[in-house]
Amino acid sequence: VLECRDLWKVFGRRSATVEVLRGIDLTVAEHEVVVLIGASGSGKSTLLRCVNLLERVSDGTIHLDGTDITDPRVDADAFRQRIGMVFQSYNLFPHLTVLDNVTLAPRRVHRRSKEEAEQSALELLARVGLADKAREYPDRLSGGQQQRAAIVRALVNSPRLMLFDEVTSALDPELVGEVLALVSDLRRDGMTMVIATHEMGFARRVADRVCFLDRGVIAEQGPPEQVLDDPVQPRTRQFLHRLV
Ligand code: ATP
Ligand code: MG
Repeated sequence: VLECRDLWKVFGRRSATVEVLRGIDLTVAEHEVVVLIGASGSGKSTLLRCVNLLERVSDGTIHLDGTDITDPRVDADAFRQRIGMVFQSYNLFPHLTVLDNVTLAPRRVHRRSKEEAEQSALELLARVGLADKAREYPDRLSGGQQQRAAIVRALVNSPRLMLFDEVTSALDPELVGEVLALVSDLRRDGMTMVIATHEMGFARRVADRVCFLDRGVIAEQGPPEQVLDDPVQPRTRQFLHRLV
């Protein structure tokens, strides 16, 4: 589904440049769940933002289903619709109901009728246990409910790939579980996902593969048991050690 080759991202110019991604190679197969771990500032968010074309890469290519989406001639908006992204802050529009938040993109971008868009939105909201919240405004929902609504908003376009950036780190601990359960459900349904997280327990539960990012490079990757329990690289060991 996704193939990143030798991705570089450099911020700033001339004397004041920072190399945030330094040659990332990452392939994500259909139905695969890849979890990105690594210290703060290692480049996890930047990598996700590059994949979603929210940042332009400095060098390298990103293929989605065989098309190089970094090619300036491709329609970036069309590809962005095929990638669902959910952030730490839910970014729901406060002046719109949950249902209007979720149906905004399908109606504006895909020109689907109100009825059609609302029907699929309501089905998805019901699936995540938010059927009775569809007509509420975001500030009437708990953090976990808002985050689930944000995930539904990303799902409603039937994306090929979902990207999650620290989707639980703004939540109270008792609300984290319901969001993680939803991600586990998506995994069971075969959704292809790339997830950046600081929660090693979550990484262990959902990951097919864990990638450890260290200063813009994938320093180590493999099945969660291997990377989290028996890492080969000293840097990975140090990072995991600091967490406990
Ligand atoms: P965290 O775990 O804290 O979320 P991260 O792994 O997601 O960290 P990034 O947000 O990708 O890290 O940031 C990587 C580096 O890129 C940081 O040093 C950050 O300061 C730098 N950076 C990010 N965006 C910009 C920008 N627009 N201009 C300059 N530097 C940036
Ligand atoms: Mg980040």
